[in-house]
Amino acid sequence: MLSIKNLHASIEGNEILRGIDLEVKAGEVHAIMGPNGSGKSTLASVLAGREEYEVTEGEVVFKGENLLELAPEERAREGVFLAFQYPVEIPGVSSTNFLRTAVNQVREHRGLEPLDAVKFLTMMKEKMKLVEIDQKLLSRALNEGFSGGEKKRNEIFQMAMLEPTLSILDETDSGLDIDALKIVSNGVNQLKSKDNATIVVTHYQRLLDYIVPDFVHVLYKGKIVKSGTKELALELEEKGYDWIKEEIGQAA
Ligand code: ADP
Ligand code: MG
Ligand code: MG
Repeated sequence: MLSIKNLHASIEGNEILRGIDLEVKAGEVHAIMGPNGSGKSTLASVLAGREEYEVTEGEVVFKGENLLELAPEERAREGVFLAFQYPVEIPGVSSTNFLRTAVNQVREHRGLEPLDAVKFLTMMKEKMKLVEIDQKLLSRALNEGFSGGEKKRNEIFQMAMLEPTLSILDETDSGLDIDALKIVSNGVNQLKSKDNATIVVTHYQRLLDYIVPDFVHVLYKGKIVKSGTKELALELEEKGYDWIKEEIGQAA
Protein backbone atom coordinates (compact mmCIF):
# COMPACT_ATOMS: atom_id res chain seq x y z
CA MET A 1 0.00 0.00 0.00
CA LEU A 2 2.70 2.47 1.04
CA SER A 3 6.31 2.32 0.05
CA ILE A 4 8.75 4.95 1.31
CA LYS A 5 12.26 4.84 -0.11
CA ASN A 6 15.21 6.96 0.96
CA LEU A 7 12.97 9.87 1.96
CA HIS A 8 14.80 13.09 2.80
CA ALA A 9 12.91 16.21 3.84
CA SER A 10 13.86 19.67 5.07
CA ILE A 11 12.21 22.59 6.71
CA GLU A 12 13.64 26.09 6.32
CA GLY A 13 16.83 24.57 4.93
CA ASN A 14 17.35 22.16 7.85
CA GLU A 15 17.35 18.51 6.90
CA ILE A 16 15.03 16.66 9.30
CA LEU A 17 14.37 13.35 7.54
CA ARG A 18 17.61 11.73 6.41
CA GLY A 19 16.73 8.64 4.43
CA ILE A 20 13.54 6.91 5.64
CA ASP A 21 12.65 3.47 4.27
CA LEU A 22 9.29 2.01 5.25
CA GLU A 23 6.90 -0.52 3.71
CA VAL A 24 3.32 -0.68 4.93
CA LYS A 25 0.93 -3.37 3.67
CA ALA A 26 -2.87 -3.42 3.87
CA GLY A 27 -4.09 -4.74 7.20
CA GLU A 28 -1.01 -3.63 9.15
CA VAL A 29 -0.58 -1.26 12.07
CA HIS A 30 2.86 0.36 12.32
CA ALA A 31 4.05 2.38 15.29
CA ILE A 32 6.70 5.05 14.82
CA MET A 33 8.43 5.85 18.09
CA GLY A 34 11.52 7.81 18.98
CA PRO A 35 12.85 10.57 21.20
CA ASN A 36 11.57 14.12 21.00
CA GLY A 37 12.77 15.98 17.94
CA SER A 38 13.67 12.84 15.99
CA GLY A 39 11.36 13.75 13.09
CA LYS A 40 8.19 11.74 13.82
CA SER A 41 5.78 14.62 13.25
CA THR A 42 7.79 15.71 10.23
CA LEU A 43 7.30 12.28 8.67
CA ALA A 44 3.54 12.41 9.35
CA SER A 45 3.37 15.94 7.89
CA VAL A 46 5.31 15.01 4.77
CA LEU A 47 2.99 12.05 4.13
CA ALA A 48 -0.06 14.29 4.52
CA GLY A 49 1.51 16.87 2.20
CA ARG A 50 1.96 19.84 4.51
CA GLU A 51 3.56 22.49 2.38
CA GLU A 52 6.21 23.85 4.78
CA TYR A 53 8.27 20.71 4.25
CA GLU A 54 10.47 20.24 1.22
CA VAL A 55 11.18 16.72 0.04
CA THR A 56 14.74 16.78 -1.26
CA GLU A 57 15.26 13.11 -2.12
CA GLY A 58 13.51 9.76 -2.26
CA GLU A 59 10.06 8.50 -3.16
CA VAL A 60 6.70 7.72 -1.62
CA VAL A 61 4.40 5.39 -3.55
CA PHE A 62 0.84 4.98 -2.28
CA LYS A 63 -1.42 2.44 -4.04
CA GLY A 64 0.89 2.58 -7.05
CA GLU A 65 0.84 6.36 -7.32
CA ASN A 66 3.54 8.90 -6.57
CA LEU A 67 2.08 10.43 -3.41
CA LEU A 68 4.50 13.34 -3.42
CA GLU A 69 2.96 14.72 -6.62
CA LEU A 70 -0.49 15.01 -5.06
CA ALA A 71 -1.84 18.07 -3.24
CA PRO A 72 -2.97 17.51 0.37
CA GLU A 73 -6.68 17.47 -0.66
CA GLU A 74 -5.96 14.93 -3.39
CA ARG A 75 -4.16 12.73 -0.86
CA ALA A 76 -7.21 12.95 1.40
CA ARG A 77 -9.49 11.94 -1.47
CA GLU A 78 -7.16 9.01 -2.20
CA GLY A 79 -7.75 7.87 1.36
CA VAL A 80 -4.87 9.32 3.41
CA PHE A 81 -6.05 10.69 6.75
CA LEU A 82 -3.84 12.60 9.20
CA ALA A 83 -5.22 12.94 12.72
CA PHE A 84 -4.20 14.67 15.92
CA GLN A 85 -1.30 16.80 14.86
CA TYR A 86 -2.86 20.22 15.05
CA PRO A 87 -6.54 20.14 15.97
CA VAL A 88 -8.34 22.13 13.30
CA GLU A 89 -10.57 24.99 14.32
CA ILE A 90 -13.47 25.48 11.96
CA PRO A 91 -15.99 27.57 13.88
CA GLY A 92 -19.48 28.12 12.56
CA VAL A 93 -19.73 25.12 10.26
CA SER A 94 -21.91 22.37 11.62
CA SER A 95 -19.84 19.23 11.81
CA THR A 96 -22.63 17.27 10.16
CA ASN A 97 -22.65 19.33 6.97
CA PHE A 98 -18.87 19.46 6.87
CA LEU A 99 -18.64 15.71 7.22
CA ARG A 100 -21.34 14.91 4.70
CA THR A 101 -19.54 16.97 2.07
CA ALA A 102 -16.21 15.33 2.88
CA VAL A 103 -17.67 11.81 2.95
CA ASN A 104 -19.45 12.31 -0.36
CA GLN A 105 -16.27 13.66 -1.98
CA VAL A 106 -14.42 10.50 -0.96
CA ARG A 107 -17.34 8.33 -2.12
CA GLU A 108 -17.44 10.08 -5.49
CA HIS A 109 -13.71 9.48 -5.88
CA ARG A 110 -14.30 5.78 -5.15
CA GLY A 111 -17.11 5.57 -7.69
CA LEU A 112 -19.84 5.28 -5.04
CA GLU A 113 -23.24 7.00 -4.96
CA PRO A 114 -23.42 10.08 -2.72
CA LEU A 115 -25.32 9.52 0.53
CA ASP A 116 -28.61 11.38 0.97
CA ALA A 117 -29.46 12.92 4.34
CA VAL A 118 -31.26 9.82 5.63
CA LYS A 119 -28.55 7.34 4.64
CA PHE A 120 -25.91 9.69 5.98
CA LEU A 121 -27.67 9.86 9.34
CA THR A 122 -27.83 6.07 9.50
CA MET A 123 -24.11 5.86 8.79
CA MET A 124 -23.38 8.51 11.44
CA LYS A 125 -25.30 6.56 14.07
CA GLU A 126 -23.47 3.35 13.19
CA LYS A 127 -20.06 4.98 13.37
CA MET A 128 -20.86 6.89 16.54
CA LYS A 129 -21.69 3.60 18.21
CA LEU A 130 -18.53 2.04 16.84
CA VAL A 131 -16.24 4.73 18.27
CA GLU A 132 -18.43 5.45 21.32
CA ILE A 133 -19.14 9.09 20.55
CA ASP A 134 -21.92 10.92 22.32
CA GLN A 135 -24.46 12.30 19.83
CA LYS A 136 -24.45 15.61 21.71
CA LEU A 137 -20.85 16.22 20.63
CA LEU A 138 -21.93 16.40 17.02
CA SER A 139 -24.59 19.03 17.42
CA ARG A 140 -21.91 21.51 18.39
CA ALA A 141 -19.98 23.39 15.75
CA LEU A 142 -16.98 21.46 14.54
CA ASN A 143 -14.17 21.64 17.09
CA GLU A 144 -15.63 24.81 18.59
CA GLY A 145 -15.08 24.92 22.32
CA PHE A 146 -14.12 21.29 22.59
CA SER A 147 -11.67 20.03 25.17
CA GLY A 148 -8.50 18.36 23.90
CA GLY A 149 -9.95 14.91 24.54
CA GLU A 150 -13.23 15.76 22.80
CA LYS A 151 -11.37 17.04 19.76
CA LYS A 152 -9.48 13.80 19.49
CA ARG A 153 -12.65 11.75 19.84
CA ASN A 154 -14.18 13.89 17.16
CA GLU A 155 -11.19 13.26 14.90
CA ILE A 156 -11.55 9.52 15.40
CA PHE A 157 -15.21 9.84 14.50
CA GLN A 158 -14.28 11.77 11.33
CA MET A 159 -11.82 9.01 10.56
CA ALA A 160 -14.56 6.39 11.00
CA MET A 161 -16.82 8.31 8.63
CA LEU A 162 -14.17 8.85 5.95
CA GLU A 163 -13.04 5.20 6.03
CA PRO A 164 -9.44 6.05 5.10
CA THR A 165 -7.14 3.57 3.41
CA LEU A 166 -4.15 4.90 5.34
CA SER A 167 -4.61 6.59 8.71
CA ILE A 168 -1.72 8.46 10.26
CA LEU A 169 -2.19 9.31 13.92
CA ASP A 170 0.32 11.67 15.47
CA GLU A 171 -0.11 11.62 19.21
CA THR A 172 1.43 14.99 20.00
CA ASP A 173 3.63 15.30 23.06
CA SER A 174 0.72 16.71 25.07
CA GLY A 175 -0.93 13.33 24.75
CA LEU A 176 -4.37 12.15 25.73
CA ASP A 177 -6.02 11.71 29.10
CA ILE A 178 -6.60 8.08 29.93
CA ASP A 179 -10.30 8.02 29.00
CA ALA A 180 -9.72 9.73 25.65
CA LEU A 181 -6.80 7.37 25.09
CA LYS A 182 -9.06 4.35 25.54
CA ILE A 183 -11.82 5.70 23.32
CA VAL A 184 -9.39 6.70 20.60
CA SER A 185 -7.57 3.37 20.76
CA ASN A 186 -10.80 1.43 20.78
CA GLY A 187 -11.94 3.40 17.73
CA VAL A 188 -8.71 2.66 15.89
CA ASN A 189 -8.95 -1.02 16.76
CA GLN A 190 -12.58 -1.19 15.64
CA LEU A 191 -11.72 0.46 12.32
CA LYS A 192 -8.84 -1.88 11.57
CA SER A 193 -9.54 -4.09 8.55
CA LYS A 194 -7.64 -6.16 6.02
CA ASP A 195 -8.02 -3.34 3.49
CA ASN A 196 -6.64 -0.42 5.49
CA ALA A 197 -3.47 0.41 7.37
CA THR A 198 -2.56 2.66 10.26
CA ILE A 199 0.64 4.45 11.19
CA VAL A 200 0.65 5.49 14.84
CA VAL A 201 3.23 8.10 15.74
CA THR A 202 3.94 8.28 19.44
CA HIS A 203 6.58 9.33 21.90
CA TYR A 204 5.00 7.19 24.60
CA GLN A 205 4.62 3.46 24.92
CA ARG A 206 1.30 3.80 26.75
CA LEU A 207 -0.76 4.30 23.59
CA LEU A 208 0.53 0.92 22.44
CA ASP A 209 -1.00 -0.75 25.49
CA TYR A 210 -4.30 -0.15 23.70
CA ILE A 211 -3.42 -0.05 20.01
CA VAL A 212 -1.40 -3.17 19.37
CA PRO A 213 1.00 -2.60 16.48
CA ASP A 214 2.21 -5.27 14.08
CA PHE A 215 5.51 -3.44 13.70
CA VAL A 216 7.38 -0.87 15.78
CA HIS A 217 10.03 1.42 14.29
CA VAL A 218 12.38 3.72 16.13
CA LEU A 219 13.09 7.01 14.45
CA TYR A 220 16.24 8.75 15.57
CA LYS A 221 17.79 11.83 13.97
CA GLY A 222 15.63 11.45 10.89
CA LYS A 223 16.29 7.76 10.22
CA ILE A 224 14.61 4.51 11.19
CA VAL A 225 17.39 2.96 13.22
CA LYS A 226 15.56 -0.09 14.56
CA SER A 227 12.43 -2.06 13.67
CA GLY A 228 10.71 -4.86 15.49
CA THR A 229 7.41 -6.15 16.78
CA LYS A 230 5.36 -4.91 19.75
CA GLU A 231 7.99 -6.29 22.14
CA LEU A 232 10.33 -3.53 20.98
CA ALA A 233 7.87 -0.95 22.34
CA LEU A 234 7.88 -2.69 25.72
CA GLU A 235 11.67 -2.76 25.72
CA LEU A 236 11.71 1.00 24.99
CA GLU A 237 9.25 1.62 27.83
CA GLU A 238 11.52 -0.24 30.18
CA LYS A 239 14.93 0.96 29.02
CA GLY A 240 14.32 4.28 27.27
CA TYR A 241 16.16 5.24 24.10
CA ASP A 242 19.76 5.47 25.31
CA TRP A 243 20.62 1.83 24.56
CA ILE A 244 19.56 2.38 20.95
CA LYS A 245 21.77 5.44 20.69
CA GLU A 246 24.64 3.33 22.02
CA GLU A 247 23.89 0.55 19.55
CA ILE A 248 24.03 2.99 16.68
CA GLY A 249 27.17 4.58 18.07
CA GLN A 250 28.87 1.19 18.07
CA ALA A 251 27.68 0.36 14.58
CA ALA A 252 28.84 3.68 13.14
P1 ADP B 1 9.17 14.75 16.79
O1 ADP B 1 7.77 14.73 16.29
O2 ADP B 1 9.87 13.43 16.62
O3 ADP B 1 9.29 15.26 18.17
P2 ADP B 1 9.55 16.84 14.83
O4 ADP B 1 9.30 16.19 13.52
O5 ADP B 1 8.45 17.64 15.41
O6 ADP B 1 10.02 15.73 15.86
O7 ADP B 1 10.84 17.74 14.73
C1 ADP B 1 12.06 17.26 14.23
C2 ADP B 1 13.08 18.36 14.20
O8 ADP B 1 12.66 19.36 13.29
C3 ADP B 1 13.27 19.05 15.54
O9 ADP B 1 14.65 19.25 15.73
C4 ADP B 1 12.56 20.35 15.37
O10 ADP B 1 13.17 21.37 16.13
C5 ADP B 1 12.71 20.62 13.88
N1 ADP B 1 11.57 21.41 13.38
C6 ADP B 1 10.29 21.06 13.39
N2 ADP B 1 9.52 22.02 12.86
C7 ADP B 1 10.37 23.01 12.50
C8 ADP B 1 10.19 24.28 11.88
N3 ADP B 1 8.99 24.74 11.55
N4 ADP B 1 11.31 25.01 11.63
C9 ADP B 1 12.53 24.55 11.97
N5 ADP B 1 12.76 23.38 12.55
C10 ADP B 1 11.69 22.61 12.81
MG1 MG C 1 8.17 16.63 19.37
MG1 MG D 1 5.97 15.11 17.22
